[in-house]
Amino acid sequence: MCQVIKTAWYEEHDQKFRQVRTDNCKMAKTVVFVLLMVISLSFLWIAKVQGKTSFIVLGDWGYNSSHQAKVAKAMGEWAEANNARFVLTVGDNFYNEGVSSLTDPLWNTLYRDVYVDPSLNITWYACLGNHDHYWGNAIYQVKAHQTMDWRWYMPNLYYTFEVQDHEGDQVTIEFIVADTENCKSKMQMKWMKKAITRSSADWTIAVGHHPVLSSGKHGGTPTMYSSSSYRKAMEEEKVAFYFSGHDHSLEHISHGTRPTEYVISGSGSKLYDRSEESLQDVVDKGYTSEFFESTPGFVGVTIHNNVANVTFVDKGGNVIYWFLKENPRAATI
Ligand SMILES: [Zn+2]
Repeated sequence: MCQVIKTAWYEEHDQKFRQVRTDNCKMAKTVVFVLLMVISLSFLWIAKVQGKTSFIVLGDWGYNSSHQAKVAKAMGEWAEANNARFVLTVGDNFYNEGVSSLTDPLWNTLYRDVYVDPSLNITWYACLGNHDHYWGNAIYQVKAHQTMDWRWYMPNLYYTFEVQDHEGDQVTIEFIVADTENCKSKMQMKWMKKAITRSSADWTIAVGHHPVLSSGKHGGTPTMYSSSSYRKAMEEEKVAFYFSGHDHSLEHISHGTRPTEYVISGSGSKLYDRSEESLQDVVDKGYTSEFFESTPGFVGVTIHNNVANVTFVDKGGNVIYWFLKENPRAATI
């Protein structure tokens, strides 16, 4: 009797134990499966992050307007969706006369309090525009890099920096950031040409505030010392892009068969209309304005191995134009 009871009790509980063991086993399998999925997805995510380099090109942005706030919001959304690694400014960072000290309130009102999306807590590689230079104020943007703002990267008035992209073969991208307000001097132009000539990166990208070609109000800027010779130097060295601003519009100018694409992203806070005279100048030089829009926005770029995807985004976050560019320095080209 006792044995029967014991057996019955044992069988009842053994069944429960087996059930528990089965449940535990199922749970363990589920946990292992989930862990494997997480690990796999992590590797995929790392590959995705490492395999692509995305960044935003923003110009003529430091002017307190409803445009600026809306562009900032759209930038945040794009940066998050594309896992942007940095922002590249093309100058006129602070209107109307730059910042006059490290404690100038404009640091907050035109920059920190505006670009608040967490996805924009990334490095801002900054380039100087003509408005940043008033009264010798440009030096405070360099000092900010050294002393007060971890996001703000401007080690000098002009400089180069390199980023790496990892997937398969390592891809390097070098940016030549010029101070084109000083291009009236032969010395600055000499530095720019030397920098693009000595660049041994897979991709070389030139950056400056003044465009060398533009159908906007300012046009291909005559204030640059011999901008046509810089354009020729960039094309000879197979520079993929020249990013600029100054004209308050979004524009893509291309020759079609020459290696360099001219991209203007100058509508971060202000707008200018197109100039027919400037457009004629572009055409006379043998180039085509593939896209022009006088609308608040920015340019987003994603480089994956030897292909770049360049998107023009308006203040509503809409992609209003895009094009693909193969690396002109790639061996297959
Ligand atoms: Zn300007």
